[in-house]
Amino acid sequence: MATLINGKELADNMQSDFTLETAALKKQGITPGLVVLLVGEDKASQTYVKNKELAATKIGIHSEVARYSETISEEELLSEIEKYNQDAAFHGILVQLPLPKHINEEKVLLAIKPEKDVDGFHPMNLGKLFAGVPDRIPCTPYGIMKMFSAYDISLEGKNALVIGRSNIVGKPMAHLLLAENATVTIAHSKTKDLPALAKQADILVVAIGRGHFVTKEFVKEGAVVIDVGMNRDEQGKLIGDVKFDEVEPIASYITPVPRGVGPMTITMLMAQTIEAAKEQ
Ligand code: NAP
Repeated sequence: MATLINGKELADNMQSDFTLETAALKKQGITPGLVVLLVGEDKASQTYVKNKELAATKIGIHSEVARYSETISEEELLSEIEKYNQDAAFHGILVQLPLPKHINEEKVLLAIKPEKDVDGFHPMNLGKLFAGVPDRIPCTPYGIMKMFSAYDISLEGKNALVIGRSNIVGKPMAHLLLAENATVTIAHSKTKDLPALAKQADILVVAIGRGHFVTKEFVKEGAVVIDVGMNRDEQGKLIGDVKFDEVEPIASYITPVPRGVGPMTITMLMAQTIEAAKEQ
């Protein structure tokens, strides 16, 4: 039976520490500020934004949600970002993705001042990470690294397989593992014989976006399994990319969904907002 990596508990503990840290900063006249730019009415995005706002408020971070209609032009959105770049009350700026099709996501991410990019998606921050000098780090893989250290899971010399190669999860995850001296492979939709490849991994990070895709056939005895996936089943229940019931008896450590990676992602957003406030 695997040890459960309790992301919710770890996140709650870290957030309690941040509450104290924020209170201390306020005494010095610094209130960490986060603005989230939300375009359109996407239901999932609204839920994510609400959760971020709740966490920020709980910790004592000043947070605002700037809402824009689906029809906002790219130019208008870029000028809103510039406004917040110049506003000293906000140390962190986050643009909730995805954006409507008529807006170029890369242009938008590039417009955020790198030091205010608390999501870690700016090409400069990704470049620093890939060059081995990380600054702002994408929150999901950053949170996963915190889980490894909280549970004393050593990475050095381990075979790590990351399934998924997105810029926000898979690729930065692979670089963070590499920085800790794991031997890293990245798999994706064109990878041949994925179950056999996955079965060699000591550390398996799954970020695909397909409910219960990873079955026991993918998992080596004693592997550490991190499930990033957030999917809805036919009943509308939140499920991961990993078939938990089947994999848990084989793994040494495993994250659940929900209460696994998700709460840590939000927590690292708060961490980087506080960090940005201290720096700025
Ligand atoms: P994404 O941009 O859609 O990327 C998915 C990746 O999975 C792609 O690289 C894709 O390969 C690969 N893939 C798809 N089908 C595959 C298959 N059959 N075999 C192997 N690889 C396959 O997704 P993302 O943004 O990285 O997110 C992944 C999942 O994590 C989603 O469920 C998302 O909701 C969740 N997520 C959770 C959190 C959290 O805080 N818990 C945060 C972010 C994302 P190709 O590149 O070849 O297409």
